[in-house]
Amino acid sequence: MLTIGVLGLQGAVREHIRSIEACGAAGKVIKWPEELKEIDGLILPGGESTTMRRLIDTYQFMKPLQEFAASGKPMFGTCAGLIILAKKIAGSDDAHLGVLDVTVERNSFGRQRDSFEADLTVKGLEEPFTGVFIRAPHILEAGAGVEVLSEHDGRIVAAKQGNLLGCSFHPELTDDHRMTKLFIEIAEKHKQEAVV
Ligand code: GLN
Repeated sequence: MLTIGVLGLQGAVREHIRSIEACGAAGKVIKWPEELKEIDGLILPGGESTTMRRLIDTYQFMKPLQEFAASGKPMFGTCAGLIILAKKIAGSDDAHLGVLDVTVERNSFGRQRDSFEADLTVKGLEEPFTGVFIRAPHILEAGAGVEVLSEHDGRIVAAKQGNLLGCSFHPELTDDHRMTKLFIEIAEKHKQEAVV
């Protein structure tokens, strides 16, 4: 069975585990770097990216997470998790993991729209997906190797680069598990290819 980890330092961890299990895979909360060896893919949840980064440093996750990405293991960043994956953060000289070739802008949907829902057309999904946006980032620029999966109001809100997936919204906060499924399919494919 496929095991998908959720970085369990901060944020919407349980909700992702629930969604992974609803898709028929095993979910594992990752609290220590050694545990990354036990999983076939990792979800970086939403929460608060600067707090999450502080905890990544405190628990010495930085290098292991970069190695995880470099080994081609699938990663899915949602909301703050997308910011953690991004190569560039607008208005800042520092990035976090810097593995997904995008520039993100934080809290980019304006104060009056701190939180909202929107029906999104997502490449790979047949029916629209209701995105829950909470002080969400968006992707300002995507590199040549990045496939844009969804846009809202002319802004990129979901993208994929190889085995890396990122979205601005919180797919785990709905009962629609298709985004999680999309990620699990990437992880399944990666695992099969790694065996051959
Ligand atoms: N605004 C948060 C940040 O910049 C992200 C919000 C979220 O994950 N819901 O980290």
